[in-house]
Amino acid sequence: MNKNVLITGGSRGIGAASARLLASQGWRVCINYVSQAQAAEQLADEIRRSGGQAATVAANVADTDAVLRMFDWIDREFGPLHALVNNAGVIAPMMRLEEMEPARWSHIISTNLLGTMMCAREAVRRMSTARGGAGGAIVNLSTALTRSGAPGMYVDYAAAKSAIETLTVGLAREVARDGVRVNCVRPGLIDTEIHASGGDAQRAAKAKDFVPLQRAGQAQEVAQAIAWLLSEQASYTTGSFIDVAGGV
Ligand code: NAP
Repeated sequence: MNKNVLITGGSRGIGAASARLLASQGWRVCINYVSQAQAAEQLADEIRRSGGQAATVAANVADTDAVLRMFDWIDREFGPLHALVNNAGVIAPMMRLEEMEPARWSHIISTNLLGTMMCAREAVRRMSTARGGAGGAIVNLSTALTRSGAPGMYVDYAAAKSAIETLTVGLAREVARDGVRVNCVRPGLIDTEIHASGGDAQRAAKAKDFVPLQRAGQAQEVAQAIAWLLSEQASYTTGSFIDVAGGV
């Protein structure tokens, strides 16, 4: 296939599952991470041992200069980008809005929303046919929590992810004629390490109480939707959403 994809937050969880799946389908994967270099390197080694192609690159997506350096590195060392998975995301301890401090909102919004927007900007600048690129595809990660707004848990996170959904629709229409498709995946409760930072590492085990399919999802199940949206099979799909949420 010889196509290159950048996966932000690819060192763990849904991003790592996406890196494994996309590499097995022939994509050359660039695995971004912010701090866990060892996890990223181990994953890249695992992919290479399985016959795939993978590289790693550190960058905090909330830091615009770091994102610019990451894309410069990709241009120089990795090769032309055909796809972006805007997956890096964070939550914060569950609480009501009235208890939250503004520093938390800056962290949530700059990582989830501004990071997604900045990476999308850099990817479009490279992929747009209007700018000499070859076209491409972007998948943004939202959450099924945008439906409820996550009351009592993380309304700030849900609000940032809702903005990502609006960004998906607008950007998809903006760059459709430039050969770039933009779609979004909305995971439900997925069994990853993210829940520890929400203050409930065992949250996935409680899925039975409120998920119609009676279990938490696996990162690989979300990766399947991401891979389809990036694939040629989704060539007429843009500005669309796939819920991978067990019926929530
Ligand atoms: P995770 O297991 O906590 O992994 C997070 C990944 O993002 C790690 O690779 C981490 O890198 C990276 N990351 C965090 N902050 C970053 C930053 N500032 N810059 C660059 N990379 C950063 O998360 P996950 O559960 O797989 O979630 C992936 C995406 O799905 C997120 O957007 C999340 O909001 C969304 N989502 C998850 C669930 C769920 O139930 N798990 C549900 C709905 C939506 P390091 O390894 O270096 O820390």
